[in-house]
Amino acid sequence: MTYTGDQILVTRSSMPSFEEYCEEIRKLWDSHWLTNMGVEHKEFQRQLEGYLSCPHVILYTNGHLALENAIAAMGFPAGSEIITTPFTFASTTHAIVRNGFVPVFCDVRQDDYTMDAGRIEGLITEKTAAILPVHVYGNLCDVEAISRIAQKYHLKVIYDAAHAFGVKYKGISAANFGDAAMFSFHATKVFNTIEGGAVCFADDGLVDILNDMKNFGIRGPEEVVYAGGNAKMSEFQAAMGICNLRHLDAEIAKRKAAAERYRERLECVPGIRLCGQKEGVESNYAYFPVVFDGFAAGRDEVFAQLRENGITARKYFYPLTNSFACYRDLTTAGAEKTPVAAFLADRVLTLPLYADLALEDVDRICDKLLSCKR
Ligand SMILES: *Cc1c(COP(=O)(O)O)cnc(C)c1O
Repeated sequence: MTYTGDQILVTRSSMPSFEEYCEEIRKLWDSHWLTNMGVEHKEFQRQLEGYLSCPHVILYTNGHLALENAIAAMGFPAGSEIITTPFTFASTTHAIVRNGFVPVFCDVRQDDYTMDAGRIEGLITEKTAAILPVHVYGNLCDVEAISRIAQKYHLKVIYDAAHAFGVKYKGISAANFGDAAMFSFHATKVFNTIEGGAVCFADDGLVDILNDMKNFGIRGPEEVVYAGGNAKMSEFQAAMGICNLRHLDAEIAKRKAAAERYRERLECVPGIRLCGQKEGVESNYAYFPVVFDGFAAGRDEVFAQLRENGITARKYFYPLTNSFACYRDLTTAGAEKTPVAAFLADRVLTLPLYADLALEDVDRICDKLLSCKR
C-alpha cells in the first residue's frame, strides 16, 4: 500500500520570509564580496558571541569541518586516543579518525543517551588526550562530572554540540562547556545557515589557529603557517544565519508545544520510553526520540507502518558508529563493547519534529503509532 495523502517528513528547515532574506543579501550586490569574512560574516559572528554569551565563535562552512579543526587545533601528539561515544552521527567519529587519532568508545546512559561519565576513567590510558562527548538530541551531558575527570587526568574536552544550539544549563549556554564546543547549522538542525557550523571557546590562544586553519593556514599575505584546508562560511550562509537568529526563540517555542503534545500522548504508554529531562536545562526541543522496549510492535515495525501512512520517522542513531563497515579493522570498534548504546540503537526512533508541525499532525502521528502491531 502506498500512502497518497499529506506526507509528514521527519524535519522541515526553518526559513525566514523570502523578502527578509533578499533584504539581507542586497548589500552583497553592492559590495560583490561573497565570501572570506565579509560584512555579513562579521556581523553574524558578533551576534552569535552575544546570543551564546561566549568569548569566541569561529564560523565554518559546516559543523563537521568545525569539529575536525577544533580537534586539530588542540595539537595532540600523533597516535593519541580520544574517548567518545558511538551513539552519534557519523561525523563525530570520522572527525577523530580523519585527524589520525584513535576513537575509544564509551557507553552511554540509559536515561538520556549521553556519555556515561562513570565509565570514562576505565578507558583512560597514557595515550588518552581528550574526551569528545555528544549532547545527543540536545540533552546536555553530565558536564560537571566530565569536567572533573578531565581536570584530574589533564585531558581536553571537546563537545559535539551539533544538536544543542539554544540549550542552556543553569543559565549557561552549551557553547561554554569544555575547552571547545562545535555547533552544526545544517538545514536539518534547530538553527540553520543552510550548511554551516561554529567552534565556540574561551581560550584566546585558539583564535588565530582556528581562523588560519579554515583558510588554507594563511596567516598573512606572505605567511602560511598550517597545511590548512578551506572551511570558511560564505556571506550567503551568514546572511541566512542573521535572519534565522531573529526568529529562533519563536521557533523553539513552537517546537516546545509539539514536543509537549508528544509527551502528553506517549508518556504513560507501556513499552514506550521517552527521554529523561534534566533539572536546570532549558531545552531546544531538537528531536523527539522514542525507545520501543516491550511495546505492541518493534521499532522496525513502527518505522515501516508509519511510513505506509505517509509519516517519516528516523532510525537515529542506528547503526552505531562503532559498527560501521569502515571501522571493521579498528581494534576499539564493536557494538558489543557498548551494550547500552547497542540496546538503544536497535530500539530508538526519532519522530517528526519541527517548528511548523501542527498539533493535529502530532495527534495523527501518535494515533498511528499507538495502533502499530506486529
Ligand atoms: C549534524 C551533525 C554533525 C555534522 O554537522 P554538519 O553541519 O552536518 O557537518 C556532527 N555531529 C552531530 C551529532 C550531528 O548531528
